[in-house]
Amino acid sequence: MKTTRYSCRFCNHELSHIFVDLGSSPLANSYLKADQLNTMEPFYPLCVYVCSKCFLVQLPEHQSGEAIFTDYAYFSSFSESWLRHAQEYTLMMIERFKINSEQFVVEIASNDGYLLKNFVEHRIPVLGVEPAKNVAQAANEAGIPTLVKFFGTQTALELAAEGKHADLIVGNNVLAHVPALNDFVEGIKILLKAKGVVTMEFPHLMRLIEENQFDTIYHEHFSYFSLTTVEKVFSAHGLTLFDVDELPTHGGSLRIYARHDGDRSKPVSKKIIDLRAREVAAGFRDLKYYLSFAESVKETKREILEFLVKAKQERKTIAAYGAPAKGNTLLNYCGVRTDFIDYTVDRSPHKQDHYLPGTRIPIYHPDKIKETKPNLLLILPWNLKEEIMDQMAHIHDWGGQFIVLIPRPRVCS
Ligand SMILES: [Zn+2]
Repeated sequence: MKTTRYSCRFCNHELSHIFVDLGSSPLANSYLKADQLNTMEPFYPLCVYVCSKCFLVQLPEHQSGEAIFTDYAYFSSFSESWLRHAQEYTLMMIERFKINSEQFVVEIASNDGYLLKNFVEHRIPVLGVEPAKNVAQAANEAGIPTLVKFFGTQTALELAAEGKHADLIVGNNVLAHVPALNDFVEGIKILLKAKGVVTMEFPHLMRLIEENQFDTIYHEHFSYFSLTTVEKVFSAHGLTLFDVDELPTHGGSLRIYARHDGDRSKPVSKKIIDLRAREVAAGFRDLKYYLSFAESVKETKREILEFLVKAKQERKTIAAYGAPAKGNTLLNYCGVRTDFIDYTVDRSPHKQDHYLPGTRIPIYHPDKIKETKPNLLLILPWNLKEEIMDQMAHIHDWGGQFIVLIPRPRVCS
């Protein structure tokens, strides 16, 4: 039988090593309405490869970016901790790089303008670039100028032709979502002023591996970066990483700072040199390190099922909190449906009264928890565990307990 050959989206080398195979899964953000329950759903392979030449961990593209992103249900403005993160970032950047009203800030995948509005409050000219029409429209209505476009060399050249070059280019949780990685980074190179700064945030592959966060793998998430590989990608396009922050967001992210190779005004920090060395010591330049991950994921699945089976044998009721993409990967991979989890709840009105893709677990308003008093409340967005345990502390009134399944299944106290 002839199988499809894939090549690395960065270096074009043939992909022949599997990092982890999570079976096949529906698109993680394709929440179903009640009238779709008796129809079929498309499932796509969720098999992640590692390139043996550049070590980029990646999903081959099975779906076009257009199909995934043009009506994206996620509005950034719904998470309080994420809004705070954006505000703190803005103040830090304004102070560190002396960004003022003479300058121009561009955010790629700017969503509903939740971040750029902080620059607007400081009278700094901004432009958002956002492919999802519904969220871009919300941004424009809120006074954040936003182009409804995918970002790449074409968009960058169009902006450059209008004389628009950026002093700061921001991209949070977009680099990992880009199918045409080289075209995207080349677009940044084109759009960036000679002394401009780029910052990009993305989940750190080191945290994914060390903390067993395999549920953060889903179809919309094409690449999984270490500092080692992201440096190679930026360097191939004439951009130098000069600083890096390790952030707690999304279970552990990197914020990289890049500039043109020729801009000597920003020396490479010790933090870059230290993290590079830590990655080398961990094994990030050795294929064997990547290939050991798959077995620990299988072992976790066995532990999760054992944990849930035991809870059900003890006649416990289980509900979930949240309907994040990562929950959908986890539940589909483990085959956990309403046989274990009665329902989930979510604060976003865009997800309520829908069903999780694949597992078809119903999503309700959080008030449902008080009404049904489940014994166990599974926190699917484990990265927001503390915030959710505070909000839902009243489950202790009826002896309810919080549980998480990643990195290992456990009761949280
Ligand atoms: Zn490669």
